[in-house]
Amino acid sequence: MDKKGLLIVISGFSGAGKGTVVKKLVEEYGYSLSVSATTRQPREGETDGKDYYFKSVDEFRNLIDYNGFIEWAQYVDNYYGTPRKFVEDEMNAGRDVILEIEVQGAMNVKKQYKDAVLIFITAPSAEELRNRLVGRGTESEEVINKRLKRAAEESADMDFYEYIVVNDNLDTCVSDVNSVIVANKCEKVYNTKLIEDIKKDLNNL
Ligand code: 5GP
Repeated sequence: MDKKGLLIVISGFSGAGKGTVVKKLVEEYGYSLSVSATTRQPREGETDGKDYYFKSVDEFRNLIDYNGFIEWAQYVDNYYGTPRKFVEDEMNAGRDVILEIEVQGAMNVKKQYKDAVLIFITAPSAEELRNRLVGRGTESEEVINKRLKRAAEESADMDFYEYIVVNDNLDTCVSDVNSVIVANKCEKVYNTKLIEDIKKDLNNL
């Protein structure tokens, strides 16, 4: 039997542009994207059910209790979690699913799904990262400082990822991440049925 769809975990520093990279991967290559649940307030322009499922703390805790998440984590005063059902259904249907989650969540996923591919997206430098966070203009100085502090902590975990992709030029970054995914899909374990079929058919020609 061939394996199920691939689980692709994409993390990166806040402000590294991973949201845009993920959006393009979905648009251009048709990957499934898991929509997370969170207790943080929606930012301007964000839609419930599309960007996140926005939940109260009680609703979120309830989902934890009912095993509704494959992983969840606390990040800068809020909860974030990956709904279990969508991810499992998509993978069982043979579709490749992208999770855009932070480091603790990525580690948790890897413990449960050994074949998950872990990709870390970074800006070319620390200075550039700060410029992008300030330039985005959606967060207060206090939040920016908290996120930079968190990024410094997260930098220790970069070693844990299997692939590091620099987001300097957006199109190059998207194409590089896609190459990583495609290479993983070409692994022998994802093609066992094809191998068997070709061997059998060639012998019967
Ligand atoms: P933001 O508030 O900027 O949308 O997201 C903050 C951080 O939470 C980002 O690093 C994002 O990747 C992460 N995140 C979003 N959804 C999830 C999730 O379901 N689980 C975990 N562990 N992290 C998430």
